[in-house]
Amino acid sequence: MPFEPANAPPVGFRKAIPLSVKLTVVVAQDALCTTCKEPLRNLANVEFDHVPALQLRLWCEEVKDTVPAANDPAAIEAKHADCHAAKTFGGKATKRGGDITEIARTRRLTEQQQEFRRRILSKGEEDAPVSTKPKSRWPTRPFRTGGPHGQEDTRRQARRRRDDAPARHH
Ligand SMILES: [Zn+2]
Repeated sequence: MPFEPANAPPVGFRKAIPLSVKLTVVVAQDALCTTCKEPLRNLANVEFDHVPALQLRLWCEEVKDTVPAANDPAAIEAKHADCHAAKTFGGKATKRGGDITEIARTRRLTEQQQEFRRRILSKGEEDAPVSTKPKSRWPTRPFRTGGPHGQEDTRRQARRRRDDAPARHH
């Protein structure tokens, strides 16, 4: 369908990250926090951040997973818990709003797209705003009163006769 909004994951979609994936992520970034670049040290204080956030990814209904996949190590970053919190909720450290703000903004856009789609699909129905416009523009004009030779035709013929008249007399 041309107006189908982009697929988003089910609200609150999450997947446990297997230990093997976590280790792959930590090793790939040399055990340094991706936010402050300091060593992660104690793994108990490390959190794994989906980049982009899961709720901002496309959703593949066939495999019930996001694109890229939720546990794709290339789309996960290891961070100190407090560095992660700053990124999730936004704050002085980040110029843009955090993921929570971005997710809310994306959801608003999706709702607007769906509203637009509803309007397009309801075109021609009584309550659709598009159908009231022609009605108010031509409120008194009768519709096809004169059968196949309606008012419009009669007027046009009259104008043509008027235009032709001088030419015939000269
Ligand atoms: Zn950090």
